[in-house]
Amino acid sequence: MAVEFEFHTPSTLIEALTWLSADAGLSPLAGGTNMVVDMRCARHFPQGVVNINHLADLKGIHQEDNYFVLGSTITITELLQDGLVKQYAPALQQAAAVFANPLIRNRATLGGNLVDASPAADMAPPLLILNADVELLSQSGSRLIPLKEFFIGVRKTILQPGELLFSVRFLILKGASAFQKIGLRKADAISIVSAAVYLECNSKNICQELRIALGSVAPRPFRAEEAENYLKGNLMTPKNIHLTAKLAAKATTPINDVRSSAEYRQRMTEVIVSRLINKLVTQTLIEDN
Ligand SMILES: Cc1cc2nc3c(=O)[nH]c(=O)nc-3n(C[C@H](O)[C@H](O)[C@H](O)COP(=O)(O)OP(=O)(O)OC[C@H]3O[C@@H](n4cnc5c(N)ncnc54)[C@H](O)[C@@H]3O)c2cc1C
Repeated sequence: MAVEFEFHTPSTLIEALTWLSADAGLSPLAGGTNMVVDMRCARHFPQGVVNINHLADLKGIHQEDNYFVLGSTITITELLQDGLVKQYAPALQQAAAVFANPLIRNRATLGGNLVDASPAADMAPPLLILNADVELLSQSGSRLIPLKEFFIGVRKTILQPGELLFSVRFLILKGASAFQKIGLRKADAISIVSAAVYLECNSKNICQELRIALGSVAPRPFRAEEAENYLKGNLMTPKNIHLTAKLAAKATTPINDVRSSAEYRQRMTEVIVSRLINKLVTQTLIEDN
């Protein structure tokens, strides 16, 4: 039997915020790729939804001084096709390329992926290595929060009722970055393990900056800071890279589920972190020559 619910289509951002602040039973609806599934299987059935997908203020990708700003309702396809994202956030674009399938990519939004806060959210690791901030907006104002503080547990964030994720922003950086995920299939698969790495090293092969973010191996996507600190200031030797990847794997707290054992998740974390660092070292050497 179909269950009735309210469906609001505000024509402005202010109107959307007014609806959301007036009634805590209303949820924002963007692409609907999580929400409609949740409603269909009665995991989460709000009293009503406020459609934000068409609001111009939440769209677009642009540069603001040294910052790169992504509107919360840009789709994964838009991220995939954008020249600026390719240039400044290659790991993010690589994650978009292996996200779901083309139909889902055309609907799913960046903001929806972050607010849904699945441990396997593919947009999270590439943004965590960029030290991205999220801008949250409500009727009473806006606040800028580091993305790493946004996630607080499995499908839990610090977002308050009446608040919208307005944009994601990060400083444009000069280092190299890359993303990899392992799923049950090569395409259209939820991540069993995912990792994004950002690296800067100097001409003496010393690591100047390293950021490692992991997905699907803990209740929330997170940065493997002990591993990062181990390699920073050190020579990028095979042994040091190997030990760094081991420390990243040690920081995980994975679960056994239908997709994978915890043991496999932990082992594959080490494999892909090592692979990504080596790939970026090679890339940096080629670019320098
Ligand atoms: C077949 C299939 C394959 C998938 N594959 C992948 C995959 O490979 N990788 C992956 O990471 N995910 C995958 N997903 C999950 C999903 O597509 C993403 O999480 C998607 O990005 C959610 O965005 P949306 O716009 O559809 O959000 P919605 O479903 O509209 O909303 C999701 C949640 O976020 C809230 N919300 C949305 N936008 C905002 C906002 N701006 N401010 C405040 N709250 C907001 C909603 O209220 C809701 O609680 C898959 C889903 C399906 C159905």
